[in-house]
Formats: sequence, structure tokens, C-alpha cells
Amino acid sequence: MAITIKSEREIALMRESGHRLSKVFDGMQAALRPGMSTKDIDVIGEKLIRSLGGIPNFLNYNGFPASICVSVNDEVVHGIPDRHRIIREGDIVSLDAGMIWKGWHSDAARTFAVGSISPEAEQLVRVTRECFFEGIRMARAGNYPHDISNAIADHADKYGYGIVEDLVGHGIGTHLHEDPEVPNFHMKSRGPKLRAGMTLAIEPMINIGTSEVEWLDNDWTVVTMDGSLSAHYENTILITDGDPEILTLVD
Ligand code: MG
Repeated sequence: MAITIKSEREIALMRESGHRLSKVFDGMQAALRPGMSTKDIDVIGEKLIRSLGGIPNFLNYNGFPASICVSVNDEVVHGIPDRHRIIREGDIVSLDAGMIWKGWHSDAARTFAVGSISPEAEQLVRVTRECFFEGIRMARAGNYPHDISNAIADHADKYGYGIVEDLVGHGIGTHLHEDPEVPNFHMKSRGPKLRAGMTLAIEPMINIGTSEVEWLDNDWTVVTMDGSLSAHYENTILITDGDPEILTLVD
């Protein structure tokens, strides 16, 4: 899927899609508590998306069976909601959600702490979020995707964390996944030049231990090879002629 440059009208629609998605996250975060199943979160998230006039873009995407990816502890991404998987105090839960609004996709992810979590987990969650903000500082017209990648990787490296290389950030628009790719690890090849009107999903996936991951037998859920904790933080952003705009965060 090619790189697309969005017009002002298209940007306004993407911004609205993103702002609505941020409300979905507010609602899911408020609901998250020990004793819930990962399916409960999916039901809540899907209801919120639809109540805001959106369509869940993950549902049936390449056969994915739910609207929200709910990934617990050592699960990196693409956790399949399950009524038998109960969230417990001390877990970290990564929620990845997206919606289509008037044909325009938004995509975001957050890792939330359930109750009190270990200092190690707390640091991982914080640093993963910081990695996104380090990356987006480089998300400027005239720069290249590898400027974003390298800034993310430099920050994760300071903590000795494993950076997931099997999954990467991406362009987004009328399709969930468009070009260019935005890796989270060090890249020598710079990729295509960033231009105003590009919209990207930047999404560091960071592990306390090894960067190596594997896929479970369900062919979706990605887990760390060593069982260490993993965190995810993602926003859909807009490249402008000045500072980038985060479309999936509202002040
Ligand atoms: Mg994404």
C-alpha cells in the first residue's frame, strides 16, 4: 500500500477519527480492573467505538476475531480477548485499538498497570511511552523514518531493553496499514522522506528482556521468547510543516 499525502479535508476526518479513538481509550482505562476477563475489555471497547459512530477496524482484519487486542504481561501484541483469561492485580495490560470513522482509520495502543505493579514493570511502561515521544520529536517534514526509529532505539537502549523487530509502525489513512514502515530499531536505510500530510502510526514495542518474540499456536498472539514483560505505546500522528500533531491524544 503506497504512501498517501492527506488533504486538509482528509486530515480533518483523520483528526476526528483519532479524537474519537482517544475517548475509547479513556473509557477502557476507566473500566479496567482486576477480576475482569480480557473479553470484557473487548466488549467495552467495541461498544465505545460503535457508540462514537465508528467501526472497529481490527475486527475480522485478516481474520482477527475481536475489536480490541488485549495483551497481558509477556504478551507483546495481538492478544485475543478470552472470557477465561482473567486480569489480575499487578498485571500490565496492553490495549491496542483502532477505528474507522467516515472511512478514515486511527490506531493507538497503551499499556496500563492493573493496581500496583513492580518497579521494573512501572519503568518499562514509562520508558516505552517515552520512546514514542523521543521518536515523534523526529517526525518532521524533511526527516526520514529512520530518524524516528533511531531516536526510539537510542532511548530503549539506555535501559538495556529488547526492542521488538518483527513488528513495526506504519502509514495509515483509508487503510489501516500503509507505507512507509516505521521500525522501532536502529535503521541504516533511511526510508522515504517525510512530507507534510503524511499520517503515521508510531508504536514502540519494548521488552524488559530479549528482543526475540514468538507466535502462539493461535497464529496471532506474539509473546516474548524469554517470558519477560512487554509494553506497547502507539499514536496516530500527522506530519506537518512544523511540529507533528498527535491525532489520538486529546489534552
Ligand atoms: Mg498500529
